[in-house]
Amino acid sequence: MMKRNKFLLPIMAFGLLSFIACSPTENKDETTNKEMKTVDHHSYAQPEEAVITHLNWDADVDFDNKMIKATAEFDIRTVDGAEKIILDINDLDISVVEDQEGNELAYEIGEEKPFLGSPLIIQIEEGTSKIKITYSSSPEAEALQWLSPKQTSAETMPFLFTQSQAILCRSWIPVQDSPGIRFSYNAHVTVPKGMLALMSAENPQEKSETGEYDFVMKQPIPAYLMALTAGDISYQKVGSRTGVYAEPTVIKAAAWEFEEMEEMVVAAEELYGPYQWDVYDLIVLPPSFPFGGMENPRLTFATPTILAGDRSLTSLVAHELAHSWSGNLVTNANWDDFWLNEGFTVYFEQRIMEAVFGRDYSEMLAVLSMQDLEATIKDLTDNGQIADTHLRLNLEGRNPDDGMTDIAYNKGYFFLRLLEEKVGRDQFDAFLKSYFTENAFKSMTTDNFIDYLNKNLFEANNLALEPDLLDQWIFGPGLPEIHPNPVSDRFDRVDAVVSDWVNETPIGLLIPQEDLLSKKWSSHEWLHFIRQLPGEMTEAQMKELDDYLQFTYSGNSEMLTAWMIHVIKHEYEPGYQNLENFLVSAGRRKFLVPLYGEMAKTESGMAMARGIYAKARPNYHFVSVSTIDEMLNWQEENL
Ligand SMILES: [Zn+2]
Repeated sequence: MMKRNKFLLPIMAFGLLSFIACSPTENKDETTNKEMKTVDHHSYAQPEEAVITHLNWDADVDFDNKMIKATAEFDIRTVDGAEKIILDINDLDISVVEDQEGNELAYEIGEEKPFLGSPLIIQIEEGTSKIKITYSSSPEAEALQWLSPKQTSAETMPFLFTQSQAILCRSWIPVQDSPGIRFSYNAHVTVPKGMLALMSAENPQEKSETGEYDFVMKQPIPAYLMALTAGDISYQKVGSRTGVYAEPTVIKAAAWEFEEMEEMVVAAEELYGPYQWDVYDLIVLPPSFPFGGMENPRLTFATPTILAGDRSLTSLVAHELAHSWSGNLVTNANWDDFWLNEGFTVYFEQRIMEAVFGRDYSEMLAVLSMQDLEATIKDLTDNGQIADTHLRLNLEGRNPDDGMTDIAYNKGYFFLRLLEEKVGRDQFDAFLKSYFTENAFKSMTTDNFIDYLNKNLFEANNLALEPDLLDQWIFGPGLPEIHPNPVSDRFDRVDAVVSDWVNETPIGLLIPQEDLLSKKWSSHEWLHFIRQLPGEMTEAQMKELDDYLQFTYSGNSEMLTAWMIHVIKHEYEPGYQNLENFLVSAGRRKFLVPLYGEMAKTESGMAMARGIYAKARPNYHFVSVSTIDEMLNWQEENL
């Protein structure tokens, strides 16, 4: 898609006609089909003709055959003369499609395309108000991760979880799988007795006798927020609106780690208005979950790698919670606009962390974000993917997962922070609060955001930015010259220690034993320390650090990954066994990619990477497997 000049855009009805929602369910049908016409290259849906508004889902989860057998009955809204409704499907076996009276509807499955799956084109006529699809999912469904008992921590029961973002919902539900299309849902789900089932909805807190569960999600959500998990799961309340789910063996540690959740919800509401989803719970999944967290409404899915034992990685909770506003409430209209979800969320996350832990703490996180961003820009630029360093992307013909880089997250964050620094915090906060309120339960494109920004932040406050600055940030490459500069005194002190150590002062003198014991440094300071270590170290230097600081055995997965990069680079053999243990047990793509990537740089490293991957691959989710297969040039016959 070509870059468009924001000043030539007609003022769109979007956002300007918006209503302030009294209750989320009341405004869901005020959008007309015509207003829904957005360009989404990753969905076959044509909502301007016929669009889904509510789902009634009845499903049987069959662990033996790794299948979901279900009926998906949608309420639909059509324009006069509509002849068809198009859903997205990927590898679903459709057996029958009916209308509201049980009359069979003719349908056709179109050509399958890479990443996208196929269109399911259903013939409708005047008066068709519902479509009901009976179907089953494939054992290879990309969104579904079926774990054997051995892959869980208690090893007693199998486990299932879904990951629908970006376009995988269509592999377990036939649906209009575009982030610009929202629907509410009810579900009736049957799982084996003894299991608890949970969705992105109002959830049970105890197992049922029969294995049957009913769910209601009354607020309209896009398909990528559809989520289901089932297994031996227990619940523990943390605050009045917050609680934690996990396997029984993990629940105590999880509830302790996330004790600050309620405080975070309060801090978030003070910043940007009421939490709109009633309850905020979090489930700690088994290790193969490929992401840090997924912001499924009412129930964040989280990796166990954030159970650091010292609450040092809870910024992930702030991040997923922030999505309850940015992303879940105001949603990117398509995956080219992914930065609208993630950049806002990182900005918001930082503000929650600042409110709860103080500015000197959150500035450490900001410095780490800048380091991550600079590394990503360098990687993408070196790989000739400079267009992927723009905030607004063009992912046509590509897997939308390609856009899930640090650019959307951290370049997005620093862009919003730049706006805050330019206009002042009070004005920027007032702007953001009205942005979330006025656009609640709607989708947003980059162009509409720019219009909204010009009108409500700049014109309303009689402010202007340097010419072209917006364009440079949103439509231009890399990090523009005018950018925020986070500074952290605490990191400056870490830098001084690194430099003295490089100049041969023993580490034990620089960081006395009592400082280690009293945990004077946070894990962020340690992470910064590891990242600032020189690119060339002797084996004796590696050993000196490791013997004293025990990085190889760190329970903090961020620190461990940063250290293991040095282990690989310096061929530091004492670290190898734990490198393998970590890669075999953790499935989070954020850690897998840099570690396998570092190994793949040399021939011997590549051999080691393949050896480890052969053992680890069965534990990884499709999302991780598809990335690592490519990095290691992996073919099925390697299995
Ligand atoms: Zn996010």
